[in-house]
Amino acid sequence: MDALPIFLKLRNTPALVVGGGSVAERKIDLLLRAGARITVVAPRIGAKVQALFDQHKLDWIEDSFAPDHVTEVLIVIAATNDAYVNKAVSQEARERNIPVNVVDQPDLCTFTVPSIVDRSPVIVAIGTGGASPVLARMLKARLETLIPAAYGRLASIAREFRDQVKAALGSVASRRGFWEAVFQGRVAELVFAGKEHQAREELGRMIQATGDAQFERGEVYLVGAGPGDPDLLTFRALRLMQRADVVLYDRLVAPAIVDLVRRDAERIFVGKEKSHHVVPQPEINELLLTLAQQGKRVLRLKGGDPFIFGRGGEEIEDLVRHNIPFQVIPGITAAVGCACYAGIPLTHRDHAQSCLFVTGHLKDGSVDLNWEALCQPGQTVVVYMGLTGLEAICREMIRHGLPGATPAALIQQGTTLNQRVIAATLDSLPDAVAAAQVKAPTLLIVGSVVTLHDELAWFSPEGAPPQGLALNEPGRGSNDGL
Ligand code: SAH
Repeated sequence: MDALPIFLKLRNTPALVVGGGSVAERKIDLLLRAGARITVVAPRIGAKVQALFDQHKLDWIEDSFAPDHVTEVLIVIAATNDAYVNKAVSQEARERNIPVNVVDQPDLCTFTVPSIVDRSPVIVAIGTGGASPVLARMLKARLETLIPAAYGRLASIAREFRDQVKAALGSVASRRGFWEAVFQGRVAELVFAGKEHQAREELGRMIQATGDAQFERGEVYLVGAGPGDPDLLTFRALRLMQRADVVLYDRLVAPAIVDLVRRDAERIFVGKEKSHHVVPQPEINELLLTLAQQGKRVLRLKGGDPFIFGRGGEEIEDLVRHNIPFQVIPGITAAVGCACYAGIPLTHRDHAQSCLFVTGHLKDGSVDLNWEALCQPGQTVVVYMGLTGLEAICREMIRHGLPGATPAALIQQGTTLNQRVIAATLDSLPDAVAAAQVKAPTLLIVGSVVTLHDELAWFSPEGAPPQGLALNEPGRGSNDGL
């Protein structure tokens, strides 16, 4: 961060503007809105500034700039069209440690004036450090449409009731809960509908009717974070990520996604590597419960979808027993994310009419699956956690009737910039994967849909090897010999 954004109170405070033309006008207008006492230094002034002077809204020193014009002012703005004068103003101000802005010359400024979305008392300021005022204006235009005009009135009403709410609700957590209920509920709707009187009544009623307990109860959000690409999060996931007080996440959740959680939320890594649970599952369940009982909003971020091989069910069972409110937000599961990003449709009229998701997790060193069900024709099988048991899985599938030439692909870190697709057959995949030194997590897809990858692959992350670099792959459009 090159500059610290702050909101400066200027009411009845002296401010100096050097220049009196059209550029100065805009700055003067802003300073007047903030209530500053403005002195303009300029040999000549434009009609608008003249009008303000005539109305006694500012003082005017009818002179060229001289160093002793920079007196006891809080800020200085240089808005002349003379680069030499602008530079002199900047120098004089800086020597006296007075914040100075020179219009359109970022290198002469010690502060810049942001683009503003004004819903007073709510003000959104957008700065680019002078890098691109156009970009700031575009962002401003977007925010203008996003923030209802009535937000200012809503904030003013909140200000009126602040002390009362503070007196009625003892804890910070309960007050926060109260205000969220205000801004997301009936009070806000009434203000938006122009019924401010009723909004005040409703707010008064809420204060009467509430106690700490009502707003203090914690909550758990069990959120599917998808397979890796942050763009695949749902809106709801993102919204809850912004509300959380504390987040529990494991290695399946991409760092770029954890970065999107509210900045000041506490972050707890609960690990989880295969056969090496950094925090054992019962402790995770316990932690969710304890944190929620402390009145916190607890975000449990899960890779993919929480209810697909995610033990999401187990994590909320204790919450149900203890009557803790929770929400479960679906995410894009690895099978769906990897299949799409690898160009392998899981079903296809010419290839597969059904699709099975199974786990290839080893039990006592062997893979224990219903092989009969897996080895049906016209079906795609997706194996989660199948890397360690890959060889056994391929072998058993062949033993239970699938041809060794059945197409099969292993997708490494699907939907991320490290995505790799190793497309081969049941016969050849284990060797191809061994040679490729893949990195977990990986997903196995078995079935003739895999042949479509050659033609439909569209996601080819920069820096990664080309799709399907595999390992004895003869070339695009052909699977011969695999
Ligand atoms: N709940 C998760 C699955 C958890 S089990 C979901 O719905 O996706 C963990 C397994 O998911 C990994 O062993 C791997 O097989 C698979 N997996 C998760 N993310 C993946 C990714 N980005 N690429 C490939 N496989 C992935």
